[in-house]
Amino acid sequence: MDGQKERAIRNITEDVVDIYLDDCIKKAGVCGCPRCRADILALALNSLPPHYAATNTGPVYVRLGAMSPQSQADILTAIMNAIHVVEGKPHHEKQG
Ligand SMILES: [Zn+2]
Repeated sequence: MDGQKERAIRNITEDVVDIYLDDCIKKAGVCGCPRCRADILALALNSLPPHYAATNTGPVYVRLGAMSPQSQADILTAIMNAIHVVEGKPHHEKQG
């Protein structure tokens, strides 16, 4: 049984989306509750190619530097698209 063995690789796209997500939600002025946040995160990640790196590459900001500006721009675009989709059909009633 070694099911808990730590993975040697990690999808950096996931880290980068997570870093930018809250900022994008704030800028777009949409609901950022855990439910909507998870929906946006999942949608954005599904539309992006994974970018794998060894986990021993270093902290997130170091791995972020290994990603091309174009890839980072693609990620921002994917997040904004995901925000618009979720905004159009939220899973809960509008608040406020
Ligand atoms: Zn919400």
